[in-house]
Amino acid sequence: MSRINLKSAATLREPTELVAHGLASAADLPDLEKVAARYAVAVTPDIAALIDPGDPDDPIARQFIPSAEELVAQPGENADPIGDHAHAPVAGIVHRYPDRVLFKLVHVCAVYCRFCFRREMVGPGKATALSSNAYNGALDYIRAHSEIWEVILTGGDPLMLSPRRLGEIMADLAAIDHVKIIRIHTRVPVADPARISAEMVAALKVEGAATWVALHANHARELTRKARAACAAMIDAGIPMVSQSVLLRGVNDTVAALEALMRAFVECRIKPYYLHHGDLAPGTAHLRTTLEHGQQLMRDLRGRVSGLCQPDYVLDIPGGYGKAPVGPSYLSQANSSPGEGELDPETRYRIVDYCGDVHRYPPKP
Ligand code: SF4
Repeated sequence: MSRINLKSAATLREPTELVAHGLASAADLPDLEKVAARYAVAVTPDIAALIDPGDPDDPIARQFIPSAEELVAQPGENADPIGDHAHAPVAGIVHRYPDRVLFKLVHVCAVYCRFCFRREMVGPGKATALSSNAYNGALDYIRAHSEIWEVILTGGDPLMLSPRRLGEIMADLAAIDHVKIIRIHTRVPVADPARISAEMVAALKVEGAATWVALHANHARELTRKARAACAAMIDAGIPMVSQSVLLRGVNDTVAALEALMRAFVECRIKPYYLHHGDLAPGTAHLRTTLEHGQQLMRDLRGRVSGLCQPDYVLDIPGGYGKAPVGPSYLSQANSSPGEGELDPETRYRIVDYCGDVHRYPPKP
């Protein structure tokens, strides 16, 4: 399983390299060394080129350059924040919902996000990929559970595998009759778009199952010309794409930033899918927003962009209870107020329009 090239030549992995490239301050080096001893660091040349070293609040740097704030864990933060372990029947598989499983093939990524919800599980210090035995055990589990309709390849980043190995895995999964959908979650098209070669695109297409790719990006600047071309290569080959983003303080927690990101996805023919509320991963409090702020952003976004650009704002409930939509509600039951007479509770509602104005439904005669 371990056909992974971790040593992409110019990827920055050491705090000293970040300092040498002007992406971190020498004064911060002792703290950054402590962070790097605990959590993986990797900044690809494509991502480094996006960072403005003169901007202390650069939204790309905030996602990838380590910070001393990561050394402080807050109450409630947890090494397994979304409860993967509670639903792991065999190594590599998380079976949380009846009709789908996560298949965690690799434990490495092209870049390491400072807010990663699996930060305790990924990185060069960990096993890079499932062993052959574990891989076969995971396949046996999927074969034995006919209710599994969708397999979600995640990790780590599955597109760190070689096209040849990925093609073998896709074929193994597509050969299982009840597996109809193979979804791949990846950051590679933005972090290292050159990996999306013709061979990689060919490996993603498979007889017997539909492939979907979910792109993780959090700021419109990540959708560079090269990233857009990488996505277009997959979409032109007939692979539909959706997005997933994490709501992050100082990165995309303004309506202007979210609007630009969602418009960029749609321009790339990528349907916005999920906007995740930040998980309670250790040392990530400085990057989280509040749910109230997230709901207000979603209201504001609805006032500015079409339904095509609207993601679902979701929270993974700690403990492994799955995702719940946590966006604002637009419909409420109207209360009877003096002078309104009798209201039928089944048919009298208040509904909020995209400008925030409230209306009765059905309208008063
Ligand atoms: S790419 Fe995904 S798994 Fe890898 S560090 Fe980022 S959030 Fe975590």
